[in-house]
Order: sequence, then structure tokens, then C-alpha cells
Amino acid sequence: MSLPLTFTAPRRGKPPRHLADLTPGEAADVVTGLGEPAFRARQIATHYFRHLEADPAAMSDLPASTKEVLAGALLPELLRPVRALTADRGTTVKTLWALHDGVKVESVLMRYPDRATLCVSSQAGCGMACPFCATGQQGLTRNLSAGEIVEQVRRAARAMASGEIAGGPARLTNLVFMGMGEPLANYKAVLAAVRRFVQPPPDGFGVSARNVTVSTVGLVPAIDKLAAEGLPVTLALSLHAPDDELRGELVPVNTRWSVDEALDAARRYFEATGRRVSIEYALIRDMNDHAWRADLLARKLNERGRGWVHVNPIPLNPTPGSIWTASDPRVEAEFVSRLRVAGIPTTIRDTRGSDIDGACGQLAAEEAS
Ligand code: SF4
Repeated sequence: MSLPLTFTAPRRGKPPRHLADLTPGEAADVVTGLGEPAFRARQIATHYFRHLEADPAAMSDLPASTKEVLAGALLPELLRPVRALTADRGTTVKTLWALHDGVKVESVLMRYPDRATLCVSSQAGCGMACPFCATGQQGLTRNLSAGEIVEQVRRAARAMASGEIAGGPARLTNLVFMGMGEPLANYKAVLAAVRRFVQPPPDGFGVSARNVTVSTVGLVPAIDKLAAEGLPVTLALSLHAPDDELRGELVPVNTRWSVDEALDAARRYFEATGRRVSIEYALIRDMNDHAWRADLLARKLNERGRGWVHVNPIPLNPTPGSIWTASDPRVEAEFVSRLRVAGIPTTIRDTRGSDIDGACGQLAAEEAS
């Protein structure tokens, strides 16, 4: 039995209010409400976003008598690490977090020679019900707040800066919304988190919007809304099939917005932002990896112009007990070659972390009970 699509997250107790959920003016109001001068909010924001610090004990410019109260009001603990697994000689770290209500989510930090990328979760579980995806099988538990997303980022940026990750201290440079959840189904919090990532300190971490990727299964109205935000983030469309018949099975939201509608929205996104769109395509053995489907995909992309898109085939990570398995390497090579011959830039996506179940579609928080 397949799960129903769920667009609206169940209402549950709200996470504690956090600096990252507030505008600078609202944060100042919280501080003055505690009888402190408004500029203390900016001091706390500087600790948090510039120095990646959330421990009041380290905030020596705050009065000893009130620092705990101020930090408690703006920087409540939102994530508690439950378990961290490392792979790739310590350069990939998957962390399972418990949220305030005990709900579990995961994030994966991947360090490369020239960059460090954090894959964040935007929802606990996911309502999009893709049958090949471990997260999709859980259903949607709830949306994350902006603060809960930003805290995943701050913790990873701190781990990088402190030299905790193999390879010595460095900056977190890239953010991808490819963890648990459909980011565009939690639009407001995701956008607020993206803005925090890109705004310069003390309002954000000051990383280039070009280094942010927001993935989606193709929620067309939300893609158009994102295109109008004036933020040059990269859009990744999880297509997985170029024909409605198969895509309707693999990505149930296709019954709402078809392949052509999703591709038209992706093209509009490119026109509005100038950012080349990524098409994500999990290659699944004997399911969607046929040569004719590569040709059909290339035709549909080329029909919409040249130079606006590239394709990332992803060797599928088999989920335990699943009928969904990775394509034969020769079939994968043929699929890639057909796209390239048709003039579509195509790169097999790195599946870092697959040996710790940290690759896309495997963030299932299996310890969720
Ligand atoms: S593949 Fe993505 S959109 Fe589909 S169920 Fe999994 S997490 Fe949700």
C-alpha cells in the first residue's frame, strides 16, 4: 500500500523560540523585555553567527548576572546530538539529532579538498511518499523551524572551524537541502534559514547564496515563488523519470504536477535567476535506466533551450529489504553517454556517506523511536 501525499505538516508543540526565528528588531524586543539594553541582542547575534558560539559562559562581553537569562531567551538548546557516525576517513559525519520533543532528524557533513558541504533536514520525515526513499516511508512527522535548520548549520560550521573534522580547521562553504523532507513544503522556515546562511554577520553566516542548493520533487507554485525571491540559490529538481507514467509511480507528487509542468517551472527558475538547474535522477535498475528514457529526458530538456540545465544521475543506494537497486554500471554508463551526446552536461553525483546510510533518500532516523 502506498502512503498518501501530505502537504500540510501535523501541528505539534512549537519548538522554543530562537534568535534565528526572529528579525533583529524582534530579538531586540526580547532583550529589552528582560530589562537589558537592545544592543545586547546584537552582541548575542555576533557570538552566534560570527563566532558560532551558543554557550553563554564563553560570552565575556555580556554581564555575568544576566548572560544565562539572555542566552536562555534567544539561544535555547534546539538540537541534542544522539549519535554521530563517520566515514571517508573522518571527512564525512552523519549526526542524528533529537529535537525538543524527542523527534529525530539527521544532517550529513561532507568535507572535500576544496569545500565542505552540509546536507540538512528541513522536515522530520517527509510527506512526499516516494516509494524508493527510506524517509518517505515514515510519513511526515512535522516541519522544522528556521532555528532548527539554522542550528544544524551552526553546529556543522563550528565543527569545521574548530578542526573537529579530519583535515584541520576550515569553513563550511556549501549548504544543500537534501536531507529529510521536501524543503519547498516547509517554505517559510527554509527561506528564513537560507537567508540566515547568506546574510553577513551578525545577521547570518555570510556564505554565498550560490553555494546553496534547494532540492524539490517539483512543487510548481513554490518553485515560482522561490524564483521571485531574488536569491541566486541553485534549484535541484528530483525528476527520476522523464515520462509521467513512470514518474507517477516513483514520485507520487507527479500526479499533481506533471513532468512537463515541473520542467517548465525549472526553466522559468533559470530565466529568473540565471542559475543553471540541476536535474536529479536516481538510477534504479530496470526501472528508469533505459536508453530510451535517457533520450526522452535529453529531448525534453533540449526542447526548453540549451545551457540552462545539467543532469546528476545518482547511483541509487539500496535500502534494506528493498526491491530498488542500483543500475548495472554498463547501463549507467550508456545512460550518461546518451545525455552527453545530446549536449546535456551530465555528472554522476557523488554518493559520499553511502556506507553510513547518509546519502540522499536514506536519512530515515532509524532510531526514531
Ligand atoms: S525522495 Fe525526497 S521528497 Fe521523496 S519521500 Fe524521500 S525525502 Fe521526501
